[in-house]
Amino acid sequence: MTTYDVTVIGAGAIGSSVAYHLCEKGFKVALIDKGDIAHGSSSHCDAVALICDKQPGLDTRMGAASIAHYAELAQKFEYDFEFDRKGCLYVCETDAEYEAASAYAARQAADGYEMGMVDNKTLCEMEPYLAKDMVGGIWTPGDAAMSPYKVCFAFTYEAEKLGLTKYTYCNISSVTPVSGGFHLSTDQGELMTGKIVNCGGVWAPDIGALSGLSIPIQPRKGMNLISEKCEKISFHKVLEFGYMMSKFDSINFKRNVSPLVEEYNVAFNIEYTHANNVLLGGYRGFRGFDIRSEVEAMKAIAERGLRFYPVLRDINCIRSYAGVRPFIEDHLPIVSEVDTLPGYFIAAGHEGDGICLSPITGKLMAQLVAGEETDFDISGLDFARFAAQKASA
Ligand SMILES: Cc1cc2nc3c(=O)[nH]c(=O)nc-3n(C[C@H](O)[C@H](O)[C@H](O)COP(=O)(O)OP(=O)(O)OC[C@H]3O[C@@H](n4cnc5c(N)ncnc54)[C@H](O)[C@@H]3O)c2cc1C
Repeated sequence: MTTYDVTVIGAGAIGSSVAYHLCEKGFKVALIDKGDIAHGSSSHCDAVALICDKQPGLDTRMGAASIAHYAELAQKFEYDFEFDRKGCLYVCETDAEYEAASAYAARQAADGYEMGMVDNKTLCEMEPYLAKDMVGGIWTPGDAAMSPYKVCFAFTYEAEKLGLTKYTYCNISSVTPVSGGFHLSTDQGELMTGKIVNCGGVWAPDIGALSGLSIPIQPRKGMNLISEKCEKISFHKVLEFGYMMSKFDSINFKRNVSPLVEEYNVAFNIEYTHANNVLLGGYRGFRGFDIRSEVEAMKAIAERGLRFYPVLRDINCIRSYAGVRPFIEDHLPIVSEVDTLPGYFIAAGHEGDGICLSPITGKLMAQLVAGEETDFDISGLDFARFAAQKASA
């Protein structure tokens, strides 16, 4: 039987990063996926790491630390994952949005993050194809874009150089706690491991169920439209401030949008990729694990895209894709050991931020597994918070 110090289950942006950071610490690590590397949400998503879409506090701190770590890894790794610190503009359609955006940016700036407001004139200079009637927007110069599936391959490639063993297309049938760790039965053999890190994203609950755990993650669908190759029409990551409203139900203002856009909870965002095409999003809905494209959602995304970039009228859409985000109600991931099952860790539930938070999650999880102090206090990401909520309900 093969023995490992740590077995990471799930080879998406989170699991591949956790595996890399564990290998970097000298652990003997196995990385298991039921499919290939980047088989799940990390290859059905967008491509940005932003702090300007995070809640003030721990969420933003994680984002900023992760982007800084991405910049270091982009220098260090042989594998190019197309890291591009292009900055992000959050554009406001109305005075009410501008006011809410200004309050948000001021709070983030007061916390020491580089974020400020720009007016209509500056927006038009920065994004010449953007509709000319925007009031202004939030500018965050440090925000970045990258290729999400290349991030997974980069971490795995670099981890293999440090001794990682990967098991792809591998099904786990049982996880049994034994003295000194866990015994895993898989269709590629029996494994003994000291510790387990569940990085299953939307499937973390199924993986947890093998160990009797109830993990409150739900799939939250998203969709993107992809254009044909075209001239560069967008120079930064650009989103509408209404996106905040779509992501966090707590930000309370109403957009002047059509019933279709409202029904599909669509908020505009655009990304011009290294492959010279346009990625247009986005939508949030609960449809279980169904990732078929929905025509009405596509229409709503296109409608919103045309509102912000009228030039899109002359560019063909060639396909769409959908994926699911690992959603947790409080919008914070779980990065923690399970106190009722020592040696079992969870890094999952990053919703729309798993690509952004991949490097820092890997780094913090490796510190937890090694029993070291983490870079900063992450008790807010503890799995035990759900048991506490249940007890107080
Ligand atoms: C449309 C859309 C746009 C998005 N845009 C962004 C963005 O711009 N920036 C951002 O940060 N995030 C974005 N996200 C969110 C991001 O995709 C996720 O947060 C991230 O991919 C989650 O990574 P993960 O590693 O936790 O999960 P996954 O990538 O899903 O990895 C989990 C892995 O576990 C494996 N697995 C499942 N069950 C088992 C099992 N039983 N045994 C072994 N392996 C198993 C799966 O095959 C999978 O490879 C977007 C999501 C969507 C849908």
